[in-house]
Amino acid sequence: MAEEGKVQREFQAEVRKVLHILTHSLYSNREIFLRELISNASDALDKLRFRVNKGEQPRLPELPLEIRITLDKEAKTLTIADTGLGMTAEELAENLGTIAKSGSEQFLADLAGAQTSGEDGAVADAANIIGRFGVGFYSVFMIADKVEVTSRPAFADEGVAAHVWTSDGLGTFTVEESTGEKPERGTIIKAYLKTDAGEYADKYRIEEIIRTHSAFIPFPIFVDGDQANTQAAIWREPKSAVSQEQYNNFYKALTYDRTDPLDEQHISVDVPVQFTALLYTPATESEIYAGKRDHWGLDLYARRVLIQHDNKELLPEYLSFLKGVVDTEDLPLNISRETLQENVILQKINQVITKQTLGYLEKMAGEDADKYNTFWHLHGKILKLGYTDYINRDRVAGLLRFNSSALPEAKDLTSLQGYMDRAPADQKTFWFATAPNREAAKMNPHMEIFRKKGIEVLFLFEPVDEFVVEGIGTYKEWTFKSIESVKPDELDKFADTESAGEAVSQLSDEDKGAFEELLKRMKEILGDKVTEVRVSQRLADSPALLVSPDGAMSSSMEKLFKIMQKDDSIPVKVLEVNRENPLLRNMLAIFKADNTDPALESMTRALFDSCLLMDGYLKDPQSFALQLNGLLTNASAWYKEVKKI
Ligand code: ADP
Ligand code: MG
Repeated sequence: MAEEGKVQREFQAEVRKVLHILTHSLYSNREIFLRELISNASDALDKLRFRVNKGEQPRLPELPLEIRITLDKEAKTLTIADTGLGMTAEELAENLGTIAKSGSEQFLADLAGAQTSGEDGAVADAANIIGRFGVGFYSVFMIADKVEVTSRPAFADEGVAAHVWTSDGLGTFTVEESTGEKPERGTIIKAYLKTDAGEYADKYRIEEIIRTHSAFIPFPIFVDGDQANTQAAIWREPKSAVSQEQYNNFYKALTYDRTDPLDEQHISVDVPVQFTALLYTPATESEIYAGKRDHWGLDLYARRVLIQHDNKELLPEYLSFLKGVVDTEDLPLNISRETLQENVILQKINQVITKQTLGYLEKMAGEDADKYNTFWHLHGKILKLGYTDYINRDRVAGLLRFNSSALPEAKDLTSLQGYMDRAPADQKTFWFATAPNREAAKMNPHMEIFRKKGIEVLFLFEPVDEFVVEGIGTYKEWTFKSIESVKPDELDKFADTESAGEAVSQLSDEDKGAFEELLKRMKEILGDKVTEVRVSQRLADSPALLVSPDGAMSSSMEKLFKIMQKDDSIPVKVLEVNRENPLLRNMLAIFKADNTDPALESMTRALFDSCLLMDGYLKDPQSFALQLNGLLTNASAWYKEVKKI
């Protein structure tokens, strides 16, 4: 502590880490420091305006709300001043010396992820990540080796003295009362540029950066006296006055997304509530599945004044892929953030936006199926949660898309209507199979009867899908059913379409009787592991499969419940066997020759275990492998004999 009142402080450890990364590894995208400083200035102006609108009286109320940048090429400095909220000495130390722990950890983790994801991508991502995690201010140390932040709070009860925060961005900073140039209200940040950062004292360069990153900041930004931003609230303009490029630029400024959006809805509504909205559908996947569950909502404005970022009352969660702004005349400016939650006006806006967006998606699906499929691959997993919206459930159902057995590729999609149009006349059921992917779905033995009858099956790849179809219940009087719960005679009315391959000889009545005895023997061998062993009507190729005794719940749903109840027992099911399959025919011959032959036992067990394996319930792979090896050893010995090797 050299001078009186000057306190030297250490940066929090997290801040030091962040600073280290910013100054050492993010060289090529340094210009984003300016976006961060401008966004902080804009936030400070927003906060001031918000409190003024609520009736508070700031220092020097006549001062305009603006941002002024001044450049000095000789001295190599860049100064940015705002007339916003300002900070007290304590706030300077707190806001510019620490970061919320969770924020910084997430930042470092995300940054590490971004940096391993490749050259150009890494830089772009890092730039996005910085802004999102409340570490934006520190990016100034990418271009400066010394920074002074002088600030005077806007509201008198927080004191009128200006304090200056100074640091070289290494380990420490100081805060003391300012004796030099000070703002009348708000904050002045002076950056002493590093020797290799001289370009940031160049007016054209700075104007260019503002056009790229900060064009839509809602306060004027002056660079050496000339205004550099357009500050248009484009959502307030008539559609005809806004070009696609303006729409896209606004989107990028709003979201930090570098990719143009898929498209936008520009809405202006007068009844039952007045508002305008500009809602974008991003062409990139939503972040809320990347651990940022809270990162959604719309920016809420009242008469062009920002009331709240990420407001979640304006949309149902299943439309949370939308990004954009809502501006209404019907909300008082002095509304507190707390009372926004149950606000009737916001609820009405929410209803209008919901209807409007469903209509917009229906139109897209009708007019441009490819675009809608792209949309679905990006945002379908959010939209499908709309099955919980009782009022709009039918419309959500109409927007659902599935992969199915009738489509050539995994990325192809069908609507429920498309499925209905392809189905035979008598069908009134949407048959579905749950599986982690298309290959697994196609190999599911339950599929065989459907393949034989030429009946299309919808593939449900995500665990939530089954809840979705259960929740939808019926669509145009059709119901949803898992292929596992098909009743033996349920598909009899549909003719076989697939030729049954090689004809298999019919069993004589005597052999049918012997087969029944074999089934009893197999049940004896398996004991309590199965409720029953019976002949299957649903298999064409596979030798056997397990089915639920009551058929009520699909096996994937059952699995989910077992996980939820932490129940890891193997469910006891019915073993259905394919009497036409060569393995079963061979077993029948062995059984007829000697019904106590031990080979029957090992074959039955192996067959059962392979069914468990298919269903994901095999818990004892060692004994399964032993069994398999035993059978292989025998098989190879017999093979040698048959081949006379
Ligand atoms: P974030 O903006 O995400 O909170 P930053 O690192 O950019 O994170 O800024 C940290 C904090 O410093 C801000 O939240 C704000 O409280 C304060 N701050 C930064 N710049 C200003 C400014 N120009 N005026 C007032 N406060 C500011
Ligand atoms: Mg910031």
